[in-house]
Amino acid sequence: MPKKEENQGITIKKSQDFSEWYNEVVIKAELAEHSVIKGFMVVRPRGYAIWEHIQEYFDNRIKKLGVKNSYFPLLIPEKFFKKEAEHAKGFAPELAWVMDQEQREKYALRPTSETIMYDSYANWIRSWRDLPLRLNQWCNVLRWEVKQTKLFLRTREFLWQEGHCVYETEEECEKETLIYLKEYKELCEELLAVPVLEGKKTEKERFAGGKTTYTLEALMPDGKALQMGTSHNLGQNFAKAFNIKFFGKDEKEYLPWQNSWGFSTRLIGALVMMHSDDKGLVLPPRVAPTQIVIVPIYFDDKNKIIKKATEVKNMLKNYEVELDDRDGYTPGWKYNEWELKGVPLRIEIGPKDVEKKQVVLVRRDNNKKEFIKVTQLDKKVKETLEDIQNSLFNKAKKFLNSSIVEAKNWNEFVKQIKNKKLVKVFFCGNVKCEDEIKEKTDGATSRLISFEQPKKLGKCVHCSKEGKFLVIFGKAY
Ligand SMILES: [Zn+2]
Repeated sequence: MPKKEENQGITIKKSQDFSEWYNEVVIKAELAEHSVIKGFMVVRPRGYAIWEHIQEYFDNRIKKLGVKNSYFPLLIPEKFFKKEAEHAKGFAPELAWVMDQEQREKYALRPTSETIMYDSYANWIRSWRDLPLRLNQWCNVLRWEVKQTKLFLRTREFLWQEGHCVYETEEECEKETLIYLKEYKELCEELLAVPVLEGKKTEKERFAGGKTTYTLEALMPDGKALQMGTSHNLGQNFAKAFNIKFFGKDEKEYLPWQNSWGFSTRLIGALVMMHSDDKGLVLPPRVAPTQIVIVPIYFDDKNKIIKKATEVKNMLKNYEVELDDRDGYTPGWKYNEWELKGVPLRIEIGPKDVEKKQVVLVRRDNNKKEFIKVTQLDKKVKETLEDIQNSLFNKAKKFLNSSIVEAKNWNEFVKQIKNKKLVKVFFCGNVKCEDEIKEKTDGATSRLISFEQPKKLGKCVHCSKEGKFLVIFGKAY
């Protein structure tokens, strides 16, 4: 039997050094690792399988809403970027370029695809009959960030989906912009068990070239907010820049209305941070690549135990089950490994269990151990997986709720930001005022303008001018 290696498990506690702990969990659970190319990551099969679960869930949902998948080029001609000035300015610092040797033209590696897609849209859209046009693409994007790399959360290249729709009317566009936000919320909460706050971005944080940006924000256990997905109402800005026009029912020519919306592999980072612990990865059952692992415990009666374990596996056809019958590892070693890799439920079967027609169920989230009659197994597994999913969500929700506080004045605000809270305050909406808040608090930014606004507004927490809305500030990834 191989000895349990010193470095098999997680060596850093979540409460001790959150950032290092996160890095260790991602690497040791074999989700992803740093590439030899600085700022890039390699997504390993266990990490990619989580992404596939997310894709499958979301793809089904948007197809029901009439969205179709498509694919556009990786390269974006420089001249396209110049068409929408604010968009060009917003993305300029993050672009990486390639040169076409023959034509002497410059192309950016896509940081997002508005421009290349809308150039095609201008050719495709002729009349009101062509609308709404709803397309999505699953792809990689490149943003040449200079900040330090963090697996899944900040890498120069990442995977994402980007939806891009075109409508006849402003109302339809706004309505659907919010529908995609709602889809994101359900994805985060139902699949990933990560509760989110929803709202609108301030002027400063809004998407470059868009009209309104809606956002979902989650709070990580270290007190930093993480943007989980955004949906932008682009108004007619890009339609103007790319000359997208259509003939209405009255034969007159109009500019259409557009939205774009996206989430990325960041969601995997959020998932890991939110639920995992000092033993490694903890995954909600709905998104776990392996939901159940069966570990047989045998001495000189291997065949008999494996036979029983195989029977149990066959009873659980509706789940992703792995039977770990590897020789040369002790059951204890296997438990540690599957705990590290975040399998939600473990089934142990030993000689005594076979005799008593039972198995042992062990939950990854809270370690609870239960003896179950084999006849009860199917029902019990279903209940337990659901309970794990719900209790992970409820725990995270409780943390989120307890982390939102109000601040009546600037001193209180600074103190609460230091306490790693999400702080609700009245704010004037001014970009310069927001810049100053960020500077004075060592990085606090507005996370969102809440959808629910009080009738009576107070003064801006920083500049004391008339408050425009209630805003949640916090430090963020
Ligand atoms: Zn202000």
